[in-house]
Amino acid sequence: MLDGLPLLAAFAGLIGLLIGSFLNVCIYRLPRDLSTAYPRRSFCPHCGKTVAWYDNIPVLSWLLLRGRCRACGAGISIRYALVELLTAATFVSAYWQHGASGEALRLALFSAVLIVLLFTDMETYILPDEFTLGGAAAGWVMATLWPPPPGLITLFLPMDRLPAGEGLAASVLGGLIPAGMIWSIGAAYERLRGREGLGFGDVKMMLTLGAFAGLEGTLLTVAVASVLGSLVGMVRVVTRGRTAMLDELPLGSFLAFAGLLLAHLGHSGRLY
Ligand SMILES: [Zn+2]
Repeated sequence: MLDGLPLLAAFAGLIGLLIGSFLNVCIYRLPRDLSTAYPRRSFCPHCGKTVAWYDNIPVLSWLLLRGRCRACGAGISIRYALVELLTAATFVSAYWQHGASGEALRLALFSAVLIVLLFTDMETYILPDEFTLGGAAAGWVMATLWPPPPGLITLFLPMDRLPAGEGLAASVLGGLIPAGMIWSIGAAYERLRGREGLGFGDVKMMLTLGAFAGLEGTLLTVAVASVLGSLVGMVRVVTRGRTAMLDELPLGSFLAFAGLLLAHLGHSGRLY
Protein backbone atom coordinates (compact mmCIF):
# COMPACT_ATOMS: atom_id res chain seq x y z
CA MET A 1 0.00 0.00 0.00
CA LEU A 2 1.49 3.30 -1.07
CA ASP A 3 0.53 6.33 0.94
CA GLY A 4 1.56 8.63 -1.88
CA LEU A 5 4.49 9.94 0.13
CA PRO A 6 7.69 9.36 -1.85
CA LEU A 7 9.55 11.34 0.83
CA LEU A 8 8.79 8.64 3.42
CA ALA A 9 9.91 5.93 0.96
CA ALA A 10 13.21 7.80 0.49
CA PHE A 11 13.50 8.08 4.28
CA ALA A 12 12.95 4.31 4.60
CA GLY A 13 15.73 3.81 2.04
CA LEU A 14 18.08 6.10 3.95
CA ILE A 15 17.41 4.24 7.21
CA GLY A 16 18.02 1.02 5.28
CA LEU A 17 21.45 2.26 4.11
CA LEU A 18 22.47 3.11 7.68
CA ILE A 19 21.14 -0.16 9.13
CA GLY A 20 22.86 -1.99 6.25
CA SER A 21 26.14 -0.38 7.29
CA PHE A 22 25.65 -1.80 10.81
CA LEU A 23 24.67 -5.21 9.39
CA ASN A 24 28.05 -5.26 7.58
CA VAL A 25 29.75 -4.86 10.95
CA CYS A 26 27.70 -7.78 12.32
CA ILE A 27 28.45 -9.95 9.26
CA TYR A 28 32.19 -9.45 9.71
CA ARG A 29 32.45 -9.48 13.50
CA LEU A 30 29.89 -12.00 14.84
CA PRO A 31 31.30 -15.16 13.15
CA ARG A 32 34.76 -14.10 14.41
CA ASP A 33 33.48 -13.64 17.97
CA LEU A 34 34.41 -9.95 17.89
CA SER A 35 32.32 -7.38 19.74
CA THR A 36 29.89 -5.40 17.60
CA ALA A 37 30.05 -2.51 20.10
CA TYR A 38 33.83 -2.16 20.51
CA PRO A 39 35.71 -0.77 18.70
CA ARG A 40 32.77 1.40 17.80
CA ARG A 41 34.44 2.66 14.61
CA SER A 42 34.97 0.42 11.60
CA PHE A 43 38.48 -0.76 10.84
CA CYS A 44 40.19 -2.19 7.77
CA PRO A 45 40.42 -5.98 8.27
CA HIS A 46 43.72 -5.91 6.33
CA CYS A 47 45.79 -3.11 7.96
CA GLY A 48 43.65 -2.58 11.07
CA LYS A 49 43.47 1.19 10.55
CA THR A 50 40.29 2.92 11.73
CA VAL A 51 38.09 4.03 8.85
CA ALA A 52 37.37 7.78 8.85
CA TRP A 53 33.71 8.82 8.85
CA TYR A 54 34.00 10.23 5.32
CA ASP A 55 35.27 6.87 4.09
CA ASN A 56 32.41 5.06 5.84
CA ILE A 57 29.40 6.57 4.05
CA PRO A 58 27.16 3.74 2.83
CA VAL A 59 27.72 2.75 -0.84
CA LEU A 60 29.13 6.20 -1.75
CA SER A 61 32.48 5.71 0.00
CA TRP A 62 32.92 2.26 -1.53
CA LEU A 63 32.36 3.77 -4.99
CA LEU A 64 34.62 6.80 -4.39
CA LEU A 65 37.43 4.61 -3.05
CA ARG A 66 36.84 2.14 -5.91
CA GLY A 67 36.59 -0.68 -3.38
CA ARG A 68 40.06 -0.09 -1.83
CA CYS A 69 41.23 0.85 1.67
CA ARG A 70 42.56 4.45 1.67
CA ALA A 71 45.42 3.53 4.02
CA CYS A 72 46.77 0.26 2.61
CA GLY A 73 45.01 -0.15 -0.75
CA ALA A 74 43.70 -3.64 0.11
CA GLY A 75 40.48 -4.57 -1.67
CA ILE A 76 37.21 -4.01 0.22
CA SER A 77 34.62 -6.64 -0.64
CA ILE A 78 31.75 -5.45 -2.85
CA ARG A 79 29.60 -7.18 -0.20
CA TYR A 80 29.76 -3.96 1.85
CA ALA A 81 27.98 -1.94 -0.85
CA LEU A 82 25.68 -4.86 -1.73
CA VAL A 83 24.43 -5.32 1.85
CA GLU A 84 23.74 -1.58 2.17
CA LEU A 85 21.85 -1.44 -1.13
CA LEU A 86 19.93 -4.65 -0.41
CA THR A 87 18.90 -3.45 3.06
CA ALA A 88 17.77 -0.10 1.61
CA ALA A 89 15.77 -1.90 -1.10
CA THR A 90 14.02 -4.18 1.42
CA PHE A 91 13.17 -1.23 3.69
CA VAL A 92 11.66 0.71 0.77
CA SER A 93 9.77 -2.43 -0.25
CA ALA A 94 8.46 -2.90 3.33
CA TYR A 95 7.14 0.67 3.34
CA TRP A 96 5.80 0.26 -0.20
CA GLN A 97 3.87 -2.89 0.75
CA HIS A 98 2.57 -1.91 4.17
CA GLY A 99 2.88 1.86 4.54
CA ALA A 100 4.12 3.29 7.83
CA SER A 101 2.88 0.42 10.02
CA GLY A 102 3.85 -2.37 12.38
CA GLU A 103 3.71 -4.81 9.45
CA ALA A 104 6.31 -2.70 7.60
CA LEU A 105 8.52 -2.71 10.70
CA ARG A 106 8.16 -6.47 11.00
CA LEU A 107 9.08 -6.99 7.33
CA ALA A 108 12.07 -4.61 7.56
CA LEU A 109 13.35 -6.38 10.70
CA PHE A 110 12.86 -9.83 9.15
CA SER A 111 14.76 -8.67 6.03
CA ALA A 112 17.68 -7.31 8.07
CA VAL A 113 17.98 -10.62 9.95
CA LEU A 114 17.86 -12.62 6.69
CA ILE A 115 20.49 -10.40 5.04
CA VAL A 116 22.95 -11.03 7.90
CA LEU A 117 22.32 -14.80 7.84
CA LEU A 118 22.64 -14.90 4.04
CA PHE A 119 26.14 -13.42 4.08
CA THR A 120 27.59 -14.95 7.28
CA ASP A 121 26.66 -18.45 6.10
CA MET A 122 28.02 -17.79 2.61
CA GLU A 123 31.32 -16.36 3.89
CA THR A 124 31.96 -18.45 7.03
CA TYR A 125 29.31 -21.24 7.20
CA ILE A 126 28.22 -19.70 10.50
CA LEU A 127 24.70 -18.60 11.42
CA PRO A 128 25.25 -16.45 14.54
CA ASP A 129 22.88 -17.13 17.47
CA GLU A 130 22.43 -13.37 17.87
CA PHE A 131 20.49 -13.42 14.60
CA THR A 132 18.94 -16.91 14.54
CA LEU A 133 17.73 -17.05 18.18
CA GLY A 134 17.74 -13.26 18.60
CA GLY A 135 15.79 -12.97 15.34
CA ALA A 136 13.28 -15.57 16.54
CA ALA A 137 12.75 -13.71 19.82
CA ALA A 138 12.24 -10.42 17.92
CA GLY A 139 9.77 -12.17 15.61
CA TRP A 140 7.79 -13.52 18.58
CA VAL A 141 7.50 -10.02 20.05
CA MET A 142 6.40 -8.67 16.66
CA ALA A 143 3.79 -11.43 16.27
CA THR A 144 2.35 -10.50 19.67
CA LEU A 145 2.24 -6.77 18.91
CA TRP A 146 1.08 -7.13 15.30
CA PRO A 147 -0.52 -10.57 14.87
CA PRO A 148 0.18 -12.01 11.41
CA PRO A 149 -2.48 -13.02 8.88
CA PRO A 150 -3.90 -16.40 9.93
CA GLY A 151 -2.99 -18.31 6.73
CA LEU A 152 -4.79 -21.61 6.11
CA ILE A 153 -7.21 -21.01 9.01
CA THR A 154 -9.08 -18.54 6.75
CA LEU A 155 -10.34 -21.58 4.82
CA PHE A 156 -12.51 -22.36 7.84
CA LEU A 157 -12.85 -19.12 9.78
CA PRO A 158 -13.57 -15.66 8.39
CA MET A 159 -10.89 -13.57 10.08
CA ASP A 160 -8.26 -11.15 8.87
CA ARG A 161 -5.84 -11.15 11.80
CA LEU A 162 -5.12 -13.65 14.55
CA PRO A 163 -5.80 -12.54 18.14
CA ALA A 164 -2.53 -11.50 19.82
CA GLY A 165 -1.98 -14.66 21.92
CA GLU A 166 -2.70 -16.90 18.95
CA GLY A 167 -0.35 -14.78 16.82
CA LEU A 168 2.44 -15.62 19.25
CA ALA A 169 1.48 -19.31 19.32
CA ALA A 170 1.38 -19.47 15.51
CA SER A 171 4.74 -17.73 15.34
CA VAL A 172 6.41 -20.10 17.83
CA LEU A 173 4.83 -23.30 16.45
CA GLY A 174 5.49 -22.14 12.89
CA GLY A 175 9.19 -22.41 13.68
CA LEU A 176 9.24 -25.36 16.09
CA ILE A 177 7.57 -27.77 13.65
CA PRO A 178 9.99 -27.15 10.73
CA ALA A 179 12.92 -27.05 13.20
CA GLY A 180 11.93 -30.54 14.40
CA MET A 181 11.63 -31.75 10.80
CA ILE A 182 15.03 -30.37 9.76
CA TRP A 183 16.66 -31.70 12.92
CA SER A 184 15.27 -35.23 12.29
CA ILE A 185 16.43 -35.16 8.65
CA GLY A 186 19.89 -34.04 9.79
CA ALA A 187 20.07 -36.73 12.47
CA ALA A 188 18.98 -39.44 10.00
CA TYR A 189 21.57 -38.25 7.45
CA GLU A 190 24.29 -38.30 10.09
CA ARG A 191 23.37 -41.85 11.09
CA LEU A 192 23.34 -43.07 7.48
CA ARG A 193 26.42 -41.28 6.18
CA GLY A 194 28.42 -40.96 9.39
CA ARG A 195 29.00 -37.22 8.97
CA GLU A 196 27.13 -34.06 9.70
CA GLY A 197 24.90 -32.91 6.84
CA LEU A 198 23.08 -30.08 8.53
CA GLY A 199 24.42 -27.63 11.03
CA PHE A 200 22.45 -26.86 14.18
CA GLY A 201 22.42 -23.25 12.96
CA ASP A 202 20.01 -24.32 10.20
CA VAL A 203 17.70 -25.84 12.84
CA LYS A 204 17.76 -22.61 14.87
CA MET A 205 17.16 -20.60 11.70
CA MET A 206 13.81 -22.44 11.30
CA LEU A 207 12.68 -20.77 14.54
CA THR A 208 13.53 -17.38 13.02
CA LEU A 209 11.68 -18.08 9.78
CA GLY A 210 8.67 -19.45 11.66
CA ALA A 211 8.61 -16.47 14.01
CA PHE A 212 8.16 -14.05 11.11
CA ALA A 213 6.68 -16.14 8.30
CA GLY A 214 4.56 -18.68 10.21
CA LEU A 215 4.35 -22.39 9.38
CA GLU A 216 3.19 -22.04 5.78
CA GLY A 217 5.66 -19.28 5.00
CA THR A 218 8.50 -21.33 6.48
CA LEU A 219 7.59 -24.52 4.61
CA LEU A 220 7.33 -22.51 1.38
CA THR A 221 10.71 -20.92 2.09
CA VAL A 222 12.28 -24.35 2.67
CA ALA A 223 10.77 -25.59 -0.62
CA VAL A 224 12.03 -22.64 -2.65
CA ALA A 225 15.46 -22.82 -0.97
CA SER A 226 15.68 -26.55 -1.79
CA VAL A 227 14.90 -25.88 -5.46
CA LEU A 228 17.47 -23.05 -5.62
CA GLY A 229 20.06 -25.17 -3.78
CA SER A 230 19.48 -28.12 -6.13
CA LEU A 231 19.89 -25.87 -9.18
CA VAL A 232 23.15 -24.43 -7.85
CA GLY A 233 24.27 -27.96 -6.89
CA MET A 234 23.60 -29.21 -10.44
CA VAL A 235 25.50 -26.28 -11.96
CA ARG A 236 28.45 -27.15 -9.69
CA VAL A 237 28.34 -30.81 -10.80
CA VAL A 238 28.33 -29.72 -14.46
CA THR A 239 31.01 -27.03 -14.17
CA ARG A 240 33.32 -28.91 -11.80
CA GLY A 241 32.85 -32.28 -13.45
CA ARG A 242 32.67 -34.22 -10.21
CA THR A 243 30.16 -35.21 -7.60
CA ALA A 244 29.72 -31.92 -5.82
CA MET A 245 29.36 -32.18 -2.09
CA LEU A 246 25.87 -30.96 -1.30
CA ASP A 247 26.82 -30.31 2.31
CA GLU A 248 29.33 -27.73 1.07
CA LEU A 249 26.40 -25.54 0.06
CA PRO A 250 25.44 -22.97 2.70
CA LEU A 251 21.82 -24.00 3.29
CA GLY A 252 21.23 -20.95 5.49
CA SER A 253 22.13 -18.62 2.62
CA PHE A 254 19.60 -20.33 0.35
CA LEU A 255 16.94 -20.16 3.08
CA ALA A 256 17.64 -16.47 3.61
CA PHE A 257 17.61 -15.72 -0.12
CA ALA A 258 14.34 -17.64 -0.59
CA GLY A 259 12.83 -15.85 2.42
CA LEU A 260 13.75 -12.46 0.98
CA LEU A 261 12.35 -13.40 -2.45
CA LEU A 262 9.04 -14.57 -1.00
CA ALA A 263 8.67 -11.67 1.41
CA HIS A 264 9.34 -9.00 -1.21
CA LEU A 265 8.41 -10.46 -4.59
CA GLY A 266 5.83 -13.07 -3.57
CA HIS A 267 2.14 -12.35 -3.24
CA SER A 268 2.61 -10.33 -0.10
CA GLY A 269 0.27 -9.75 2.76
CA ARG A 270 -0.90 -13.34 3.06
CA LEU A 271 2.00 -15.20 4.60
CA TYR A 272 4.15 -12.40 5.94
ZN1 LIG B 1 43.73 -1.11 5.05
